Amino acid sequence: MDADTKPEVNFEAPVSKPAASTKPSTPYAGLTSNACAAACDAKGCAISLKPYCAHPTKGGLHPSQMSDPAALARADAARAELDRDGLEAAISKRKR
Ligand SMILES: [Zn+2]
Repeated sequence: MDADTKPEVNFEAPVSKPAASTKPSTPYAGLTSNACAAACDAKGCAISLKPYCAHPTKGGLHPSQMSDPAALARADAARAELDRDGLEAAISKRKR
């Protein structure tokens, strides 16, 4: 009789957790046409990665970063994010 030697539930079984690859699909979560991304704070903007906000409707990148391809790419991504998420908001803001 070796049926009892086999536990019904194996609590020692390794549970395969989903890896930490479940990042938000956008680096600019929370970004709207008039508010910067949640990742943007006093220490630095999520777009400029500098202590100023490079939000597209708040002045954008400073000239000093206009020759930085990575910064330009982040600004482009932020604009694309706004186009995708904030188009209706931007349109409704225009009627004033
Ligand atoms: Zn910002």
